[in-house]
Amino acid sequence: MYGRYWREMGEKARITIAGWQSMSYFSGGSDVCWFLEAELGEEVRRLHRVVGNAVTEGRHIVVGTGSSQLILAALYALSPRDASEPITVLSAAPYYSSYASMSDYQKSGLYKWGGDAEKYEKEGPYIELVTSPNNPDGHTRRSVVNRTHGFVVHDLAYYWPQYTPISAPADHDLSLFTLSKSTGHAGIRLGWALVKDREVAKKMTKFIELNTIGVSKDSQLRAAKIMRVVSDSCEQREGESFFEFNYKVLVQRWKQLRAVVERSGLFSLPTFSPAFCTFYGFAWLKCEWEVEDCELVLKQHNILTRSGKHFGPCAAEIVGQPREGGKRGDAESAGCQKASDGQTNDE
Ligand code: PMP
Repeated sequence: MYGRYWREMGEKARITIAGWQSMSYFSGGSDVCWFLEAELGEEVRRLHRVVGNAVTEGRHIVVGTGSSQLILAALYALSPRDASEPITVLSAAPYYSSYASMSDYQKSGLYKWGGDAEKYEKEGPYIELVTSPNNPDGHTRRSVVNRTHGFVVHDLAYYWPQYTPISAPADHDLSLFTLSKSTGHAGIRLGWALVKDREVAKKMTKFIELNTIGVSKDSQLRAAKIMRVVSDSCEQREGESFFEFNYKVLVQRWKQLRAVVERSGLFSLPTFSPAFCTFYGFAWLKCEWEVEDCELVLKQHNILTRSGKHFGPCAAEIVGQPREGGKRGDAESAGCQKASDGQTNDE
């Protein structure tokens, strides 16, 4: 999706790494996260300052091999060591489909998947994963459990201006970001956490040390360069920024998708209230007829998707439900706010 922009950037985003560079395990970018490259730390803080989507003052940066590694590092760091049973990991359905498998695949004694946060009734400690804007449905979210003894991890992979209005800098205890969704470079495998508590940041660092003895320096240096190009594009006076350019790409894709869905009469897209911007990079598509496996049907037409059954109980109920009332997304008429400047978008 962002390939055209990066091809147009050409040499601007190129880096050269000499054979003698990046040889040590160690870096000097942080006294907590000992493998963080200083250059990356600076570019992370700069990008958040330029975009205004997260507070970095008073935060430790922990770098990870994608935010996937950081999700596991956060679960490891927040789990109590002396508990008689694993802490419960929750997220409100529909949730990012990997949370459940990530939490359970190693059958950890520290934490275990507890399912839909909306249905959590137990007392006692828990970790809630809050994804905002949410994958898969694009809605802005807050924690839903709100009890004492709870830890909240904010997965802000999509809190960038090409997807959603940036209403305020995120100011949470633990927020996760990734290059995969911000600039489109999923293959660099680079994510970062902003962590308030030093001890939590240290434990996350320990997890990554035990897991991969740090994060590829080549990836960190390349990520720093990519982020510098993005921040420069926002601060320059002429031409479009990375976010403006790609916001338009998303506008175009949503127009095409809505037109196809509208014409088919077989699917519906979610409706967003005017407070939401609808131009996300993914779509929560609802089958409007009875079908065993919507993913399979779409695959037969060369459209790759992930079945609703992976996203939690309410998602599974939606899949295969017959059409009721023919509610269809009308976000085009909903008056979406333009992501970067808060003006009304009439496209
Ligand atoms: N969180 C969310 C909400 C995601 O959608 C994804 C990728 N689909 C990730 C985390 C993981 O991204 P990565 O490991 O590439 O940083």
